[in-house]
Amino acid sequence: MEKFEKPILVTRPFMPTYEAFCEGLKEIWDNQWLTNNGPVLQRYRSELKNYLETNNIGLFANGTLALQIGLQGLCIRGEVITTPFTFVATTHALYWNQIRPVFCDIEPDTFNLDPAKIEELITPWTTAILAVHVFGRPCKLNALADIARRHNLTLIYDAAHAFGVRVNEKSICHYGDLSMFSFHATKLYHSIEGGMLVFKDPGLQNIFSYLKNFGFKNETEVVMPGTNAKMNELQALMGSMMLNYMDMLIEKKKRIYEIYQERLCDVVGISFSPDPERNVDYNYAYVPALINEHEFGMSRNELHEKLKEYNIFSRRYFYPLLNDLSCYQSVAVSKPLTVAKKVSEQIITLPTYADLSEDDVHKICDILSKIRTH
Ligand SMILES: *Cc1c(COP(=O)(O)O)cnc(C)c1O
Repeated sequence: MEKFEKPILVTRPFMPTYEAFCEGLKEIWDNQWLTNNGPVLQRYRSELKNYLETNNIGLFANGTLALQIGLQGLCIRGEVITTPFTFVATTHALYWNQIRPVFCDIEPDTFNLDPAKIEELITPWTTAILAVHVFGRPCKLNALADIARRHNLTLIYDAAHAFGVRVNEKSICHYGDLSMFSFHATKLYHSIEGGMLVFKDPGLQNIFSYLKNFGFKNETEVVMPGTNAKMNELQALMGSMMLNYMDMLIEKKKRIYEIYQERLCDVVGISFSPDPERNVDYNYAYVPALINEHEFGMSRNELHEKLKEYNIFSRRYFYPLLNDLSCYQSVAVSKPLTVAKKVSEQIITLPTYADLSEDDVHKICDILSKIRTH
């Protein structure tokens, strides 16, 4: 089996044509307005409101700042129950707000926070649950809402992976008290860099606007110590143009996902999560697979290296677990994180992006099968 001539990366941003983007830039040049709630951003915001069917959204420079501001605006304090199987920014955002993360184990099939293991971690200091829709697969929304309601906790979702996901025919942004979406270039949908909060309480709108713009209420009044987390006009232009490609992107990623699944389901030692439930319109943003070392005859780490020989760059996402990072080793873990540990040692995400051809996906599958047999 030949290696790929050019490196196949785990993801690649989709972009509108150069000509179309330049056409859009003309308006920004004419306006001579680059940031601070400009006209392109305002238009983009209303497009998103239509797309998501909610008025309660805020746009930010990136997802991490959006989450930091979300936690700050909701006045979350004390302890927050969260997952160790996520991108570092989820827990970083808690630390930037002086909140203590309490790591809870995950479900083996969805890789999301396990509702059955949350309640034993609740203490008098617990104020919120920060769950992540890992790989865009919805958390157990009802179970989490139920726990949050019974214990009077705020329910926050890191939905960085979940743009475009719908549950019961409405956007996943409608669940929980607040959801953060990332529009980073590596995500399914992007605005170069960017972030969004969607929230239940319309009263938060002004607070988030102040917090992302130094606390300015108007020209002379500064009402809180805000930061600078504004989305600029070029980001808004990209986001707006990319919105037109959402259906196409999901369609393409779905096809890629299906090929991987069909071709690899019989390869011993590689397994996929069960399909999302029937009430979910999934976005197929990632192709996560678990490698069982014993059955596959090679560890996930060895496979990750082996694939590089074929010019295929998979990703161990998420590995290591956050509580194993030197940065968070001092965080006390009171209950075992057995499932999370196992998943982080077995997980590999395979290349998927709109411009990845079906032939190339088949070739990646051929290579994986061949590696398994040898
Ligand atoms: C990408 C990501 C973030 C951070 O978003 P940025 O826009 O890159 O700041 C946070 N959480 C998760 C789960 C992510 O994947």
